[in-house]
Amino acid sequence: MKRIGVLTSGGDSPGMNAAVRAVVRAGVANGLEVFGVERGYQGMIEGAIRPLDARSVSGIVNRGGTILKTARSKAFLEPEGRVKAAEQLAAHGIEGLVVVGGDGSYRGAAALYQEHGIRCVGLPGTIDNDIGGTQYTIGFDTALNIATEALDRIHDTADSHDRIFFVEVMGRHSGFIAIMSAIAGGAEEVLTPEEPSDIPGLIARMHDCRTRGKTSMIVVVAEGDDAGGAVDIAKRVEKESDFKDVRVTIIGHLQRGGSPTAFDRILASRMGVRAVEALLAGESGVMVGIENQQMVVRPLSDSWEKKSLFDPDLLRVVRVLGV
Ligand code: ADP
Repeated sequence: MKRIGVLTSGGDSPGMNAAVRAVVRAGVANGLEVFGVERGYQGMIEGAIRPLDARSVSGIVNRGGTILKTARSKAFLEPEGRVKAAEQLAAHGIEGLVVVGGDGSYRGAAALYQEHGIRCVGLPGTIDNDIGGTQYTIGFDTALNIATEALDRIHDTADSHDRIFFVEVMGRHSGFIAIMSAIAGGAEEVLTPEEPSDIPGLIARMHDCRTRGKTSMIVVVAEGDDAGGAVDIAKRVEKESDFKDVRVTIIGHLQRGGSPTAFDRILASRMGVRAVEALLAGESGVMVGIENQQMVVRPLSDSWEKKSLFDPDLLRVVRVLGV
């Protein structure tokens, strides 16, 4: 193998740049030529492919977003789209790919390998931390820290006015950011997509908090909660209880931007190096993960078959500490 490509695909996450830099530099260190594919699989189909040398990835380890840009590609979902993508890779002499993205991007990589024999290694890039085959994904720690800082700020105003806040954090299918930020930010309650939400039960627990002398409260809501987003849930609580004049904050895309934490930079750097080594060792259809502080290589299918879930005991921790 002489030439490899790297792309970022699906939802962006802070630390993707650190991963791209690591892939490029590990490739160069191993005598490979590395190409950057812009805008994920869409750019691959369109031939938006350019060489990257060690210097071209200077100064990006600390930058959020992705210099390669990211996209979703409908065309790539079809076999004809993947034929075009494979032709573009062949035209550039690219024999191996590192795909930084979520499990959707991995399905694409698996299809490219099965149908066209292009060796692919996946790196988990998503703030949601919900990919199987790894305990942490690139970007989760940064998003968690942003959500925690937001909760700290909301605490100040909630305390000053004796107010109740519903704070919505990202997580359409995953409550990782919600549960972890609830613990780190000292929230009283948390609602996640993993647990069926019981609004009367939530109101009862809020009453208990008030009886114990709490004058302000924070309820963290994952955006994909089964009872709705923070706006809907706050309205329901106001309607079904004597808690009135509650406030809602949606942190939104703030969680996806900004400089990645040291944890995410280190994770992305280690994963990028391991991905190049995996390609050179002839591996394909695999992803790099972290387990017990060690880099591990797992089948791509682990990402969607073994969805990563938070320990349900963490919910108990939130409630015990919200006493
Ligand atoms: P993520 O990688 O963050 O999960 P998506 O699910 O949007 O994001 O996937 C990113 C891209 O990967 C899609 O736009 C599509 O081009 C490609 N992709 C997703 N699922 C498949 C699939 N089953 N087969 C082929 N390509 C896929």
